[in-house]
Parts: sequence; structure tokens; C-alpha cells
Amino acid sequence: MANQINFLQPKTREAKIEEILNRYNQPEYRLKQVFEAIYKKHVKTYDEITTLSKELREDFKNELGDILTLKPIAITTDEFTEKVLFETIDGSKIEAVKIKYKDHTSLCVSSQAGCALGCKFCATGTLGFRKNLSPDEICDQLLYFIQKGEKIDTIVFMGMGEPFANPQLFDALAMLTDPDYFGLGQRKISVSTVGLIPGIQRLAKEFPQINLAYSLHSAFHEQRMELMPVAKVYPAEAVFIELKDYIEQTNRKVFIAYLLIKGVNDSPEHAKALAALIKKQGPKSYLYHINLIKFHESDVVKGMKKPDETAVERFSTVLMHRGIAYTLRQSFGEEIDAACGQLFAKNRKK
Ligand code: SF4
Repeated sequence: MANQINFLQPKTREAKIEEILNRYNQPEYRLKQVFEAIYKKHVKTYDEITTLSKELREDFKNELGDILTLKPIAITTDEFTEKVLFETIDGSKIEAVKIKYKDHTSLCVSSQAGCALGCKFCATGTLGFRKNLSPDEICDQLLYFIQKGEKIDTIVFMGMGEPFANPQLFDALAMLTDPDYFGLGQRKISVSTVGLIPGIQRLAKEFPQINLAYSLHSAFHEQRMELMPVAKVYPAEAVFIELKDYIEQTNRKVFIAYLLIKGVNDSPEHAKALAALIKKQGPKSYLYHINLIKFHESDVVKGMKKPDETAVERFSTVLMHRGIAYTLRQSFGEEIDAACGQLFAKNRKK
């Protein structure tokens, strides 16, 4: 079923709820009551919404099933992480990873089932594209954890899929930030992109306080095109022009994700080229922050290895000496295949 495109989007939970309430000529405040029960009281079934009549609850149950549009089908955990493989109502599989470190809990969510962009280092890229997730399917990854009583501090769009390739991402962001739904502050959300310029422009306009991360992974255009075919359409040069505008408009930091892969992009020359690219951004180059991430080995992505510690240290030193702000990201979830698409890719083979 790879590369199947879904043109018709199913009705949202909200539209279906409204439809049932209208059928029974219910006053407007009923919708608010249902919303409060789902997003503030975190009920798991429509049966628990006792402010509704039994008849209404029956209809909700028969037509909508449970509240969540996702069913957890595989869970793996280690000391810091919990990774859940979900199945959507139409049978697509997606993943979310909860990472708890010290007193901070972050949730990495998926925006698509599979991905069409085929980056060479990415497990999701090997799956092909299945579908864009609906706003409910995106937000229910969070709702699942909230229903279990978990406190989630931040949401990052770094799971399966390219967020800006899914136009419904913006409806999901609206739900995440709307006080009637999840009411998260924009600064608690991060969106990571391989550089889809129209998405960056729209984010700057509609959600200027949401954190933006750009996945670069090589400052050399030729190599980047090999690693990430999307660079043929959106080369880093064009994306950096856009990022400059983004910074002008928002005055916000931009995160540059750089995955270190052994013998591929972890040499001092790569580090120097990266530093030069950041310096080239002019007086506001200090607003670019590099996130170095060590490649996570798996048998799904063949022929790529995690970098040696000495190479990581050399790379970081080059950045440090050139005054480039960077963070070496902590690696979590090595035992549970917490890199995007790996749990699904593994389960698919069974
Ligand atoms: S890295 Fe992101 S854009 Fe590239 S294939 Fe994986 S999910 Fe898609």
C-alpha cells in the first residue's frame, strides 16, 4: 500500500460531534461540555460524559467508538523513553515517543504515516508514503498520554513524516494551542522540517512563536542532494534566505539539526563548512543553534553507522573554536528503536 494518497479527509471528531448534537437539537453549550470532558477532564469513553443523555452517549459510542482515533498496538520502554506504535482507524501505523529526562517530559509526534521524501538515513523514508495524518490523529498522540495521567511539557514534530508536507499540520497546531483544546503555549511546540519553504513561510505568519528546526545534515549541496533528494527542490541556499526572513519577522532562534553519520558527514571539513555557512548569515547568525545528533544504527537503514566519539569531539571542537552555538543532543532510546520509523519498520518485517 506504499505511495497511496488519500484525497478525501475524514470528518474531524468535532464535526462528527456537532452533527450528532444537531440531530438532537441540542443547545450550543453541549459542545463545550463535550470538549471539556475530552480535553480538560480527559475521559476515555463517551459513556463517561454524564452531562449527556444516555441516548446521546449511545449514539456517540456507536458512531465514533472510543474517543481516541488511535489504538496502541506495540509499546517499548527503557529508562528514559516510551515508544508507542499506534494504528489509525484506517489501519495506518504511526509512532510517538515520550522522552522523560530529569523533570522534563517531551513527546515526539508523527505528522504522516510513512513519508515520500526518501532521505537516505531515515527509517521512515524506507516505508514510502501512506497518508497525511488528520489533525485528530496528530493530536491524539498527545491525548493518549494525557489520558494516562502523564504531564507532557513539550511537543516536537520529529516523528514519522515531514510536517510541512501535510497541510493539516496547521489545523493540528491550532488545536494544540487553542485554550478550548490543549491550550499549549506556542513556545512549547517545535516543528522540524527538511526545508519546505512554503511551510516555513506559513509558520512564521500564523505561529511565529513555535520553534523551528531545519534538518541540514551537510553543508555541501551535492552531498545533501544525495542524502536528501528534497534538496533538489529546496536547496539549503534558498532555505537559508527564507530562514533569514523568518528571523527578521520573528526574532526567534532557529535550530539546525545535524545528524552525524560515520564517514559520511562527520569530518572536520564538514564541520568547517557548516560553521562557514552559519557565519555567512550575517549579523543575526548568532540566532542559529546547531543540534548535533549521533546517527542511531539499525538494520532498517543499511550501510550507515554511528560516528566514533573522537569524530564527534573533533566536529564539536571546530564549531566551538569558530564561535558557533551548538548542543550535542543526548541519545535516548537506543534499546527501543526510538529513531523515527524504526519501530514500525521492525514490526512490518514480522
Ligand atoms: S527524515 Fe523526515 S523528511 Fe526525510 S524521509 Fe524521514 S520522515 Fe521523511
